[in-house]
Amino acid sequence: MIIWGWRKLRKVLLDVDEMECSNCHNINRFKLIRYTSWFTIFFIPLIPFKSEYFIVCPICEYGYKIDKIEKERIMQDSSRLR
Ligand SMILES: [Zn+2]
Repeated sequence: MIIWGWRKLRKVLLDVDEMECSNCHNINRFKLIRYTSWFTIFFIPLIPFKSEYFIVCPICEYGYKIDKIEKERIMQDSSRLR
């Protein structure tokens, strides 16, 4: 019997600019986070089938979703600065 399912993995891609959080009102460098949904077999992630990107507050995890185009733009901007 094959046990299959899916799971979500979270990865911090980079720190973005300082912003004031509209939830906890701390000023911090927000994080660009990618959540990837993986198709799993026997609990091993095999095939990624969906990625979502979020900008979140590092303290309270409050944030908002961005699309892939916006994420590419942020990644490009930050690599130019380095
Ligand atoms: Zn916050």
